[in-house]
Amino acid sequence: DAVVHWFKCDLRTKDNKSLHLASEKAKEKGVPLIGMYIVSPQDFEAHLTAPVRVDFILRTLEVLKSDLAKLDIPLYVETVEKRKKIPDRILELLDVWGASHLFANVEYEVDELRREASLVRACLERGIAMDVVPDTCVVSPGELASGTGRQYSIYTPWFRAWVAYIHGHADVLNLFDEPGKNPESARKKLRKLFESNIPSAPENKKLTEEEKERFRSMWPSGEHEAHERLKRFCDERIGGYSDNRNFPAKGATSSLSVHLASGTLSSRTCVRTARDHNSTKKLDGGNQGIQTWISEVAWRDFYKHVMAHWPYVCMNTPFKPEYTNIDWEYNNEHFKAWCDGKTGYPIVDAAMRQLKHCGYMHNRCRMIVGSFLAKHLLLDWRMGERYFMEHLIDGDFASNNGGWGFSASTGVDPQPYFRIFNPLLQSEKFDAGGEYIRKWVPELEGIQGNAIHDPHARGKGNEAKRKGYPERIVDHKESRDRALARYKQGLGRD
Ligand code: FAD
Repeated sequence: DAVVHWFKCDLRTKDNKSLHLASEKAKEKGVPLIGMYIVSPQDFEAHLTAPVRVDFILRTLEVLKSDLAKLDIPLYVETVEKRKKIPDRILELLDVWGASHLFANVEYEVDELRREASLVRACLERGIAMDVVPDTCVVSPGELASGTGRQYSIYTPWFRAWVAYIHGHADVLNLFDEPGKNPESARKKLRKLFESNIPSAPENKKLTEEEKERFRSMWPSGEHEAHERLKRFCDERIGGYSDNRNFPAKGATSSLSVHLASGTLSSRTCVRTARDHNSTKKLDGGNQGIQTWISEVAWRDFYKHVMAHWPYVCMNTPFKPEYTNIDWEYNNEHFKAWCDGKTGYPIVDAAMRQLKHCGYMHNRCRMIVGSFLAKHLLLDWRMGERYFMEHLIDGDFASNNGGWGFSASTGVDPQPYFRIFNPLLQSEKFDAGGEYIRKWVPELEGIQGNAIHDPHARGKGNEAKRKGYPERIVDHKESRDRALARYKQGLGRD
């Protein structure tokens, strides 16, 4: 007999609800606990998982395996090529192990919800209990409803309810203990499982040796690293977060998104740790930086809440369906210039190059390049959404989809489509000294002063041109006018 925990986007031992419950159940029954992770190349493909993210996950599995081994718990990892075969293979494994109970944390994407629902049924038919428990959000989707019983679609009132809920439910931020040690006999009995290897990345998700080294030094994996990062951030930078977070050159944010997306850190732990640093020991009041950071972590919950209640956002449909008929440009040259960071708009180009080099982009810049793609280039926002998933180490469907909905004005954000970011003003405001641009666009390294934001128009002696920096691919005013007209037409308001 055995109890099994199925790891998915929760690659940690600390504060993992399902893993904790599985451990308790194993203890109660006096049977060993087995950890299981299924690698599905087709799932990586279907989710557009970036190679840098696949690499991060596989590296994290090594850390997890070694942490679990210290508790005499095996982490069994197997590759199942086709995603549809995963449930059947799990049932076979449960059978081989004689397992009576399967535990997992819930994922709110449509395909995953369907898969888990059918697996629960199939387990039941075989007399196996399966518990799928909410863990990834601080406040699970479905817990908050407005006074009239409707689901919130606007962040601000939802956030107020979120804070009140946490203050009213003392146990929401409680820490789930690490699993207990397996009985000594487990080592011998499960010897084969301890020997299972972590596979290398599927062919089409492989990194080059240079990329491997670069990303490994930038993004060390595992939950110990995540906790260190959180601690350093709370000790050193969280106080200034509110003032500094919008300036990409300042490195003022936590860089924890990769850990939240892979589940090497729980969002509960983030909020609890930040709250404990606050003088009020609450989510509100006290330090402004702490309050603002908590409200950003809440955005992650909010977008999962949106995905859970409006699941059609998982199916290529905008949250505001009336925005379905915009006549996008589908100009491949423009799209390529955007991807390569060669639009002639320095702040956009710096950001896109940061993404390629780091697998990460600062939030302010994500908004700038998102708006630029959807409004200035009038490209279908889903092309940008896809490109982000294919390149981000922190790629997360709900946050990415929400961010793109915000940028293209097709999402939950109540702001109307005529809010169009002016990349020049954004650049002057958030990268006033041009440090971020100079770091990522080497052609502009030598451009002094204010010319950095618009080097062709303001620069002296054609330096940008000599260094091969591209001219603007679209004019700001013309493209702004075009976007306004096209959105209006798409909404049938001509
Ligand atoms: P911090 O500022 O330190 O924030 C702490 C945590 O709060 C983040 O790690 C993240 O988990 C959460 N958070 C912060 N801002 C947001 C937000 N706007 N929406 C949702 N969660 C947020 N975030 C992802 O995790 N994955 C994505 O795929 C993703 N795609 C995005 C696409 C677009 C177009 C936009 C505009 C935003 C996207 N974001 C995404 C949100 C945000 O940009 C990143 O979470 C943030 O930049 C990560 O850096 P950090 O960890 O230093 O954040």
